[in-house]
Amino acid sequence: MKGGRTARDEGELLMLPGPTDVPEEVYEALGRSLINHRGREFRELHRSLIDKLRRVVGTSGDIFVLTCSGTGGVETALSNTIERGDRVVAFVSGQFGERLAAAASYYTDNLSVVEQPWRRAPTAEDVKRALGERDGVDAVLLVHNETSTGALAPAIERIAEECRRAGALLIVDAVTSLGGVKFGFDQAGIDVLVAGTQKCLAAPPGLAVIAVSERAWEKIESLKKRPAYFDLLLHRKFMERGETPYTPAISLFYGLDAALSRIISFGVERWVERHRAGAEAYYRVADELGLEIYPEPGFRSTTLIAIRLPDGVQDTAVAETMAEEFGVHVGVGVSRERGRMIRIGSMGEVTAWKTKRTLRALCEALSRHGVKLPPSDSIIENIVDESFSSRGF
Ligand code: PLP
Repeated sequence: MKGGRTARDEGELLMLPGPTDVPEEVYEALGRSLINHRGREFRELHRSLIDKLRRVVGTSGDIFVLTCSGTGGVETALSNTIERGDRVVAFVSGQFGERLAAAASYYTDNLSVVEQPWRRAPTAEDVKRALGERDGVDAVLLVHNETSTGALAPAIERIAEECRRAGALLIVDAVTSLGGVKFGFDQAGIDVLVAGTQKCLAAPPGLAVIAVSERAWEKIESLKKRPAYFDLLLHRKFMERGETPYTPAISLFYGLDAALSRIISFGVERWVERHRAGAEAYYRVADELGLEIYPEPGFRSTTLIAIRLPDGVQDTAVAETMAEEFGVHVGVGVSRERGRMIRIGSMGEVTAWKTKRTLRALCEALSRHGVKLPPSDSIIENIVDESFSSRGF
């Protein structure tokens, strides 16, 4: 495979906010024969998978792969760390923040929701202020990379520091940032991190990854009531012998293992850096063409590019032209931005070729829907080449 390009890429291109394209070797791994999930071969696969994940997450501690999508991972995080009466603060600046807060309200009646502007993500100062205004907060919940707005929370380490100082656990939805943003879970002092596999890890959907700190274990061990399927204590007990409590999605475990091997042989930091190259190209081209980038500078995601469309242009019409005419699939606006936004997932196998193809399809579709743009071909060509080559890709 050359430059991350696969046979499937020649046809349709998945530039969605997930799932994203997966490399050919991952498809091959998915087709392997099933094995006994209580046998030696599975235990070896599982342990090797966890070791690889530790390198991407930046932890020497506990990580679990759950057979469920990212939302199941979020439910696991909340059901294991929050109980009735706990004081919880949830930051909301987009649809996934709203979902996180809604899910947490099932576990405690003592939830405060901190609403924030949608073009921004929570900062350490926001967290400090919220914790300063409330006594004895037990947990802080936030979405690291708000996929509905393309806003990424800067300096998660400083946010974690504020939480630790106030004695609150920090629970992070990193569903669309793990693999696309450098993580040092242990060093930063995050307590629970949840990720999806179908995003920046370039693996198929259907699994969630959850990392747990020592501080989080203290809370988990003290719970008066435990969830069933998602009980992390049970997962830890089975993990001692390299197994999962319930039947794992063995084929997806193979797929994730192959995807992680690819990331590790490419280099975790280079993998992250390539996400930066892609995002920079999108933002520079958008600026040059006069397109409106949704998040404010300082909050712009390196994995999800949100472009607000000019008034009167319907996002579903643009996305449909991109898909039907150019084979490039992107996301549209959701919640309060419904109808007005194109959301491009620049995740996983980010390449100059894909970035150019997506930008050309976007510009062509916009012109077909009446948006006047300057000639874009050479702008796209030059900026994308520069963003990738200046970083050695
Ligand atoms: N959180 C964020 C930030 C997401 O972007 C998504 C999905 O796009 C989810 C949670 C839910 O993940 P899943 O669809 O895998 O359940």
